[in-house]
Amino acid sequence: MTPLFHPRLVNGPFGDPALYVGFLHEKRALLFDLGDLAALAPRHILRLTDVFVSHTHMDHFVGFDRLVRVRLGRGGVVRLFGPPGFIAQVDAKLRAYTWNLVSRYEEDFTLLATEIDPDGTYQSARFCCRAAFEREDGWDGTARDGLLVEDPAFRVRAQHLDHKIPSLAFRLEERAHVNVHKSRLVEMGLPTGPWLQDLKRAVLTGRTDDTPVTARWTDADGEQARGFTLGELKARALSVVPGQHVAYVVDAAPTEANVARITAFAKNADRLYIEAAFLREHADRARETCHLTADLAGRIARAAGVGQIVPFHFSTRYGGIGEAPLVAEAEAAFAGEAA
Ligand SMILES: [Zn+2]
Ligand SMILES: [Zn+2]
Repeated sequence: MTPLFHPRLVNGPFGDPALYVGFLHEKRALLFDLGDLAALAPRHILRLTDVFVSHTHMDHFVGFDRLVRVRLGRGGVVRLFGPPGFIAQVDAKLRAYTWNLVSRYEEDFTLLATEIDPDGTYQSARFCCRAAFEREDGWDGTARDGLLVEDPAFRVRAQHLDHKIPSLAFRLEERAHVNVHKSRLVEMGLPTGPWLQDLKRAVLTGRTDDTPVTARWTDADGEQARGFTLGELKARALSVVPGQHVAYVVDAAPTEANVARITAFAKNADRLYIEAAFLREHADRARETCHLTADLAGRIARAAGVGQIVPFHFSTRYGGIGEAPLVAEAEAAFAGEAA
């Protein structure tokens, strides 16, 4: 199957955390953590709809300025999610600049910041560019099961972890994956095209089999359209399989409570991005700084039964020896090899 999500670490395993998740055939994207974004092209920053910030240590939040800089004057809404205190920190970042000329922009740009408390309650505030990013409070509620975003195609959940401060882990879940069998479309005399997005959406939102679907395209004879029922197309050209799940876990103390929470939260994910700051031989340093070791990250991934582990956020103290020993330690623990 062709995956819907295309995740990549913007800064590699040693740089600031920022996991960019592009979508197949769609000009939208998600970002997990706002580390340095210098390496992310403006066209990718312009696709971001939702940005999830684990915590506001500088290496996870310094990219905020570039996000705003690139989006300024371009319109659109970016939703930001973070831990308790996040709205005040977004506000403080915005207050550091002078906004006396922005009311003249034709396109407004809006930031919608949400902070999530450990009990699941959340508060949101809006910052509109043309209003000089003045904070507007007034949205709150409760995130059931840590649910932050519910889209027809996917969900994002959060889990609080302890990093001496709250640190959020995130899980991106594709609801179901619709495979389109192009050879069957060809047999039916139908081309691919934007109409397939509507078809997929109809399946993912649980529309009934008698729902009409129109295939539209343009060829040498002009505009063409043919009508079907959803059930007919499902039977002849589609298959629906479980969706892709990606878990993202960064700074967390190596405590039993965190291990239990991460293991449950990352359960059966297809891929787990997980911090592995230190080698096991420096476990004392990991405890002092409230980080995981590569060995522990691998053992968590094994206990969670994930499909694949991607260890990252390595301490720069290992820059000289490179990523190989850290990856090897995490992979060995993931494979259940005795230390
Ligand atoms: Zn960090
Ligand atoms: Zn941190």
